[in-house]
Amino acid sequence: MSKIIKLHRRATKRAVALPTPKPNRPSRSDAEDAVRTLIRWAGDDPDREGLRGTPARAVRAYEEWFAGYDEDPRDYLKRTFEEVAGYDEIVLLRDIRFESYCEHHLAPIIGRAHIGYLPHTRVVGISKLARLVDVYAKRLQIQERMTAEIAGCINSVLKPLGVAVVLEATHQCMTTRGVHKSGVTMVTSRMLGVFRSRPETRQEFLAALNMRERIGSIAN
Ligand SMILES: [Zn+2]
Repeated sequence: MSKIIKLHRRATKRAVALPTPKPNRPSRSDAEDAVRTLIRWAGDDPDREGLRGTPARAVRAYEEWFAGYDEDPRDYLKRTFEEVAGYDEIVLLRDIRFESYCEHHLAPIIGRAHIGYLPHTRVVGISKLARLVDVYAKRLQIQERMTAEIAGCINSVLKPLGVAVVLEATHQCMTTRGVHKSGVTMVTSRMLGVFRSRPETRQEFLAALNMRERIGSIAN
């Protein structure tokens, strides 16, 4: 009996994890064929031994890299805590590592996100903010939009007094191709509510991030 329940649970979990079929979404074998085409385009033979399993592996990697399309980021902010004992200062989570992919070249964007918010009455578990970053990162992105999306989501679901989001990242479409400039970090920010309207609150956030020191250490 317990075994049946267990199996049922596992089946339910798997069903939830399956991506919702999207209209016009190609089949797995279509996607694998596309990888084969790219291998041929690169100049190699997809049928040689070392490459035979590559299309299937690449498609599985795509499922992981782009898992964010199957998740609703707002879900992570729904569970909040209201017992904050009158805490009314900035909550800051910094150095949330993320891996994303640029929508212009499909090249990795590797970076860190820093999120600050000034709670109104509710706070959210910090791991949820990290998960929120991942949902947006695991999609084809440009850094500017990703920054705005993270801030916008926190603002609309949590309704804090203000949100500040800073992203710093390196873009491999710039380091491994094109201008080939390594060591370049792109920094984007989105300030909403009191972080936008009150310079001293914004300053407090940036000081807590210690941007000057950080930028210095990245340059070294
Ligand atoms: Zn790019």
